[in-house]
Amino acid sequence: MIEDRAAFQAELLDWFAASRRPLPWRKNYEPYHVWIAEVILQQTQMERGVERFQRFIAQFPDVRALAEASEDEVLKAWEGLGYYRRAHNLRRAARALLEEHGGRLPDDPDALKALPGVGPYTAAAILCQAFNRPRPVIDANVERVLARLTDLDQPVKTPAARRSIEGWAEELMVPDQARDWSQALMELGALVCRKRPDCAVCPVARHCESLRLGIVQERPVPGDRPVIQHVEVVSGVLASEGRVLIQKRLPDDVWGGLWEFPGGCPENGESLEQAIAREFMEELELAVTATAKLAEIRHGYTRFRVTLHCFALALTAPARPVLHAATEWRWASLDEAARLAFPAGHKKLLDQLQREGLFER
Ligand code: SF4
Repeated sequence: MIEDRAAFQAELLDWFAASRRPLPWRKNYEPYHVWIAEVILQQTQMERGVERFQRFIAQFPDVRALAEASEDEVLKAWEGLGYYRRAHNLRRAARALLEEHGGRLPDDPDALKALPGVGPYTAAAILCQAFNRPRPVIDANVERVLARLTDLDQPVKTPAARRSIEGWAEELMVPDQARDWSQALMELGALVCRKRPDCAVCPVARHCESLRLGIVQERPVPGDRPVIQHVEVVSGVLASEGRVLIQKRLPDDVWGGLWEFPGGCPENGESLEQAIAREFMEELELAVTATAKLAEIRHGYTRFRVTLHCFALALTAPARPVLHAATEWRWASLDEAARLAFPAGHKKLLDQLQREGLFER
C-alpha cells in the first residue's frame, strides 16, 4: 500500500484543483444534478454524457418536473442512452422524492437506497459529491487507478480484489475533503491513468507500485472477456394511408414502455419472411406477407450484436390488431412516430424511412 499517504493525498488534491474539468454538475453540486449526472454517466462516455445531461436538465429542471412528466416524455429524453430501466427508475424515484421528501434528495444513505434504481454506488456518489460525506465512490476509473497504484495481482472484479479496493478506498479517504478527494481519484483515472496511462505526467507517479516494478501494462490484470452473442431479429412495417403500425412494449421487458415495429426472433428452420409473418400473427393476430426487404440494420448492446432484418408488409386478410405482446398500438405518421422513444435498431429504421420518404402520403 502507499507508504506516504499524506503526501499522496496532498499531491493528488493539488493536481485536481489545477486540472479539474468544468463539468456542469460541478458548478454547485446541486443534489438533483449530481444524481442525474451519475445515472447518465453509468453507461455513457463523458463528452456525450455532458451533452445529454444538459438536455435532460433543460427539459426536467428539477425533481417536480421529472415527477410530473409522462412516461413517453422521459423515455424520449432517454432515447439512445440505453438501459431504459434507468429512465423508468428516475421517474419513479422523482415521484417518491416529491411525495416523501418534499422534492429534495435526502442526505441519508438508507433513504437514498430506498429510492428506485439507487444502489450502493449511486447512493455513495450522491452522499459524497452532493453532501460532501466521506463515502468512497468506486467506479471503473478508481478500480483501475488503485489496481495500478497498489500492484493488485488479480482482476478487479473478483470478490477478493473488490474487498481490497474497498479497503484501500476507505483508508485513503480524506474525510474533510471527501467531495474533492473522490473526484480527484476518478479524474486521475479519466485523464491520466487511462487504459493507456500517461505516467510521464502523472502527479502521483512516485507513489505507484506498478510503475516502480515496470509492469504498468500488466495492470489491472484482465478478467474474463464477455462472450459476444450474435442475434438475428425480424421487424415488419405495415403501412396504411401514410401511417405505420407501431406498438408499445410490455412494461416488464428490457425495452418496456418503448415503441417498436412489431417483430421478433426467427425460430428453428424458419425463413426471415416466415418469421415476420408468424410474429405478426402471434403478437397482433394479423395475417401479413413480406413484400420487400427495407433494410438490414446492425447494432450492438451489452454483449449482443444484433442484425435487424426489416420488411415492408401487406395484410393478407383485413383485421384489427389484438395485442398479445404490447400495451398499446396505433397507426402513426413517421413524424408522429419520431416524437416517441424507440430502441436503437428501430430508431435507425425509422430514421431511414423518414430519409427515404417511404410510406408518406
Ligand atoms: Fe497510473 Fe502511471 Fe500514475 Fe501509476 S504512474 S497511477 S500507472 S498514470
